[in-house]
Amino acid sequence: MLKKVAILAVVASSLAFAKPNVVVLATGGTIAGSGVSSTQYEGYQAAVTGVEKLLAAVPELKNIASVSGEQVAQVASQDMSTDVWLKLAKRVNHLLQQENVDGVVITHGTNTMEETAYFLNLVVKSKKPVVMVGAMRPGTAMSADGPMNIYNGVLAAGSKDSIGKGVMVVLNDRIISARDIQKTDTITVDTFKAPIFGYLGQVVDGKVVFFKNPINKHTYESEFDVTNITKLPKVDINYGYANDSGVVIDALV
Ligand code: ASP
Repeated sequence: MLKKVAILAVVASSLAFAKPNVVVLATGGTIAGSGVSSTQYEGYQAAVTGVEKLLAAVPELKNIASVSGEQVAQVASQDMSTDVWLKLAKRVNHLLQQENVDGVVITHGTNTMEETAYFLNLVVKSKKPVVMVGAMRPGTAMSADGPMNIYNGVLAAGSKDSIGKGVMVVLNDRIISARDIQKTDTITVDTFKAPIFGYLGQVVDGKVVFFKNPINKHTYESEFDVTNITKLPKVDINYGYANDSGVVIDALV
């Protein structure tokens, strides 16, 4: 009897400490950027460092998860396209169907992070965590924010508490729902905010802490499905502004 209890305790504790399997899908951005000096954080080149090097820069990852990386694209996110969106969405859906994948992290430029996050929030068909991370400083900068954002992103993607919360962005320690996130500044590391509905949570000292749940439908509850879609229609955006002559909208029509 005692022996049985001891065996059960060992099994239970090894299960409790089993590291989650997290796949990192890299798409480029400043997080994969490189500058000419450690003090340059504007005017650097985005999207040059490959996923293996990004992960190698965070050796602490091995303590928290079994991590593998894939390069899905290598673009500055102002060049993100709907073709990459579809490729990414299908890859995420495929990976999350695998029993041995617990969560996905996507590295991405911050310029269009909101758009990609929201799109994925509508078309990913899984309760498993999908976490997007980026950086405001290239990897070559003094006090680069990318490595900690990757570390915190992997923690969030591997956390059981992240299940069912939809696509999230983790940057500057904050955890923000894809639906609520706004980039508010083009330079500072505290750029991502959720001004209307607030942050979902925070990562502190290696702990993922949530303050609330998103209530709108997302991911597995969404009616959108990209399984059989190979091309998205082109939709351009025209801003309304004072003294608008209508020339842009006429050109689009
Ligand atoms: N140009 C970068 C991008 O790929 C900016 C960034 O990542 O912060 O969006």
